Amino acid sequence: MTVMTEHAVVIAGGGPTGLMLAGELALAGVDVAIVERRPSQDLPGSRAGGLHSRTIEILDQRGIADRFLVEGQVAQVGQFAGVRLDISDFPTRHPYSLGLWQKHIERILAGWVDELAVTFYRGREVTGFAQDETGVDVELPDGQSVRAKYLVGCDGGRSLVRKAAGIEFPGWDPTTSNLIAEVEMTEEPELGMRHDALGVHGLGRVEYEIRDGEVVFADNGPVRVMLTEPEVGATSEPTLRDLSEGLIAVYGTDYGVHSPTSISRFTDMTRQAATYRQGRVLLAGDAAHVHAPDGGQGLNTGVQDAVNLGWKLAQVVNGASADGLLDTYHAERHPVAARVLRTTMAHVALRRQDERTEALRETIAELLGADEARNGFAAMGSGLDIHYDLGEGHPLLGRRMPDLDLVTADGPLRVFTLLHDGRPVLLNLGEPGGFDIAPWADRVQLIDAKYDGAWELPALGTVTAPSAVLIRPDGYVAWVGDLTRPGLAEALTTWFGAPTAA
Ligand SMILES: Cc1cc2nc3c(=O)[nH]c(=O)nc-3n(C[C@H](O)[C@H](O)[C@H](O)COP(=O)(O)OP(=O)(O)OC[C@H]3O[C@@H](n4cnc5c(N)ncnc54)[C@H](O)[C@@H]3O)c2cc1C
Repeated sequence: MTVMTEHAVVIAGGGPTGLMLAGELALAGVDVAIVERRPSQDLPGSRAGGLHSRTIEILDQRGIADRFLVEGQVAQVGQFAGVRLDISDFPTRHPYSLGLWQKHIERILAGWVDELAVTFYRGREVTGFAQDETGVDVELPDGQSVRAKYLVGCDGGRSLVRKAAGIEFPGWDPTTSNLIAEVEMTEEPELGMRHDALGVHGLGRVEYEIRDGEVVFADNGPVRVMLTEPEVGATSEPTLRDLSEGLIAVYGTDYGVHSPTSISRFTDMTRQAATYRQGRVLLAGDAAHVHAPDGGQGLNTGVQDAVNLGWKLAQVVNGASADGLLDTYHAERHPVAARVLRTTMAHVALRRQDERTEALRETIAELLGADEARNGFAAMGSGLDIHYDLGEGHPLLGRRMPDLDLVTADGPLRVFTLLHDGRPVLLNLGEPGGFDIAPWADRVQLIDAKYDGAWELPALGTVTAPSAVLIRPDGYVAWVGDLTRPGLAEALTTWFGAPTAA
């Protein structure tokens, strides 16, 4: 075996999760490399359809949300049991989702990563690894290997890293199977969704716009086909013939389907890695959790895994924190994906076409008629309600820091601007100059500012204005208090490492 080179962190897989993680690590000055099987970032087919509110906020925290917003379509896409979950009155700068195909999301993310110091091994794949006390030998084809302190498997649902680590992937086998394709059609197809005894099917142009809240497809161009299959469990790759037969079974014609650029299959298989960490090997994104696309959560959850893990891994690699900090990654993110899995399974169950399910759908729709229930579901679907269990205290503790418009001695400032470099912030809204965090000054920014507006949290409503908040690089609040409240030094040490001696 030839050891090619060494990096602090090697990421297997440069999909959305791997790209986001690489960006986060590079921002923190970590020597990171991505090993990606695909020769370029090009992604055939469409896969994920967009970003939810919290993911847009996460990108805004790094100053790159606009790159996505200019290319996508702002929309209210949330729904559950047929009830629209409109978040336009939620207290966030981005009270909407963004329609943008995954191939564009990946291209834009890769553009950001290219501006940072990230090494790419494209057209290469991770074939195995061996970890020891000081690092991991990551195996590539032809007997080559790369040495790293940590290996992160962002290598998708069939993750080799997860399998090679022997990490269990418990869950549920599929109950539904769908074909998804991008094709040309010689005849004009019937665009839109169709429900029948088999399930839900859909035809749409790949290119579309949102006008007055409605999807308006382009007049021509490639068609995106989604068909529910009569059987679950096909093992061969789907072909144009399968697609043509499927179209005829549902629509009575295949509309002269030809020239596919992609044909693939997805199911509602639902599984989650039993642990997100095994020693020096970690999992994130689809490698850690898979589920049906209903609700559009997969890519969003993966990108947010990456932002939870990135700064923690950087601090461990840079020597600021002990490696026990990495255990908080599993502790915080496993429950989030477990809830996504549960809600997605409910989504899939509710799309069944029998009369009892119809009755259940109507019942749930009635319950969602209550504002509190509907807001709760909307906050969950948009990722705005995520609450890491950091103990008892102010409602902000463990929740996302809102992007407030602050006033500082140097002028107006948005909270998210403070997070662009991925560095933590102690935001003092009380008497200026009151806090002294000199022993952490090399790691934590101290900002004195004023904010006179209301403190409103999605679904929770107004909360008491805090005097000071400690904000982690991922935008979650690690401590809330004032000069008299104990625990700040403890929180700083827990999250950002031991104090530096003067
Ligand atoms: C039809 C459909 C619709 C969807 N809609 C949505 C949606 O609307 N919203 C949403 O949030 N999500 C959606 N998803 C889910 C979304 O596509 C995935 O959750 C997302 O791609 C996960 O990103 P990832 O980076 O974790 O994994 P992947 O995107 O699978 O990326 C893994 C990467 O690793 C590479 N790789 C794999 N094995 C190796 C190896 N051994 N060595 C090196 N590289 C390797 C692959 O080439 C790939 O680039 C949808 C999925 C489907 C199928």
